[in-house]
Amino acid sequence: MTQFTDLGLAKPILKALADKGYTQPTPIQAQAIPVVMKGRDLLGIAQTGTGKTAAFALPILHRLAEDRRPAPRRGFRCLVLSPTRELATQIADNFKAYAAHLGLSVATIFGGVKYGPQMRALAAGVDVVVATPGRLMDHLGEKSATLGGVEIFVLDEADQMLDLGFVVPIRKIASQLPKDRQNLFFSATMPSEIGKLAGELLKDPASVSITPQATTVERIDQSLIYIEAQRKRPLLAELLSDRSVERSIVFTRTKRGADRVAKYLTAAGIEAASIHGDKTQGQRERALAAFKAGEVKALVATDIAARGIDVNDISHVFNYELPNVPEAYVHRIGRTARKGKDGVAISFCSDDERSLLKDIEKATRQKIPSFDRRNDKALAAAAAVADKLAPAEKYVDPRKADPRNNVPSELRRKRNRNGAQGKGGQGGGQRDGQGGGEGRQAQGQGRNGGGRNGGRGGQGQGGQGRGGQQAQGGAKQGGDFRGPKRGGGVQTVETRWSPID
Ligand code: AMP
Repeated sequence: MTQFTDLGLAKPILKALADKGYTQPTPIQAQAIPVVMKGRDLLGIAQTGTGKTAAFALPILHRLAEDRRPAPRRGFRCLVLSPTRELATQIADNFKAYAAHLGLSVATIFGGVKYGPQMRALAAGVDVVVATPGRLMDHLGEKSATLGGVEIFVLDEADQMLDLGFVVPIRKIASQLPKDRQNLFFSATMPSEIGKLAGELLKDPASVSITPQATTVERIDQSLIYIEAQRKRPLLAELLSDRSVERSIVFTRTKRGADRVAKYLTAAGIEAASIHGDKTQGQRERALAAFKAGEVKALVATDIAARGIDVNDISHVFNYELPNVPEAYVHRIGRTARKGKDGVAISFCSDDERSLLKDIEKATRQKIPSFDRRNDKALAAAAAVADKLAPAEKYVDPRKADPRNNVPSELRRKRNRNGAQGKGGQGGGQRDGQGGGEGRQAQGQGRNGGGRNGGRGGQGQGGQGRGGQQAQGGAKQGGDFRGPKRGGGVQTVETRWSPID
């Protein structure tokens, strides 16, 4: 088995790895690190959770440290582009941890907070900048950032960039980079447009492909519940109150939906918080901290807000609404069963969502074991209570949504704007669209990046609720449940990913 010590990484990096208790590289790290250390371009097909951040951060830091030179004023030696601010923060935190004994500087640039601290962080030059495309474009327009000093360019989660309409800004940014540079390109999937972008950006790349999604997914116990749309909330409350649910992500399609579900759960006595782009950065960080600390049992999130969030030990994923694209289903359920653990994924399917389910089953070539909880009287009664606790939202037929992806409507507007612009205009036009206005957050950090994450209180907005109001379909069971209940019994779904007949 390869050890980190076999890879020829600089001593201070090995020390940082030892500090973290990492001794063995993950498969993507073992393959990518030697290639990147040699200065070659890399195409990596890998998802979050495979250790891909360290796969690029470690050899990049090694290269920067071996050839120390000051970054130009307002410039940086390494640029990492990330689709969302959460992922940007995570990547930067990783860089900082691995650079702890190197004295290299790391800064993040993303929308939604003030420009001033970012400008100050960039002023003297930074070794590594992790940025979302929109805010970086703004800085370039304002001349508070320059790309002339970039030696290494990393594009992370390229497929998500495509979903968020960032391909145009990425091309613009790339066109301003020095020709002589190293390029690293990571994507979980390779839709044709992303393949094309990779072809444009990469020169004779080595390619590394890790963990076909199915191998992650195989460890997840999946089930599906047919349920009336308006009864989803009490059903969710019922399932969440099972003791086996330790920490869960609940996916909704819209930001408003996420708020309503979280509000209902809180009122029903279940610790919940929502996270999406309309929340302030502070709210998002608090919700995430509370979730990580185990104070929040259910984090209700939109796809984009949840993407890239690295929280381990998620026991359950609930698809409160099915996503509009099958790939999102795989991404969502992959949030559980990380780091070799098993997980449970339960999806709700109302009549309007049948075609989405069909697409998912076709794309994954699996049939999800299903249960029928329609016409459940207890849930019907509870749904009436639910409406009082938090009025139900109007249900929108998902087939009327943009069929190309599950980007929320406000993001689609942004994408249109991206497409419409592109006249070379600068001056702050382009905003971070990440997550449909999920974006607009920013964070600048100065040299040597003392972790800004330390010491944020974890309080989340979930709170305690008043208890006791959630709907109960039947007697609560303490033990491990995987399948939903009907009439008080517990059904365990043994099948995992049985083939479609
Ligand atoms: P990533 O795919 O980069 O989001 O990494 C997933 C998680 O694995 C993160 O929490 C990393 O800190 C952790 N990790 C990365 N590399 C290793 C390693 N070699 N050994 C153990 N954990 C790791």
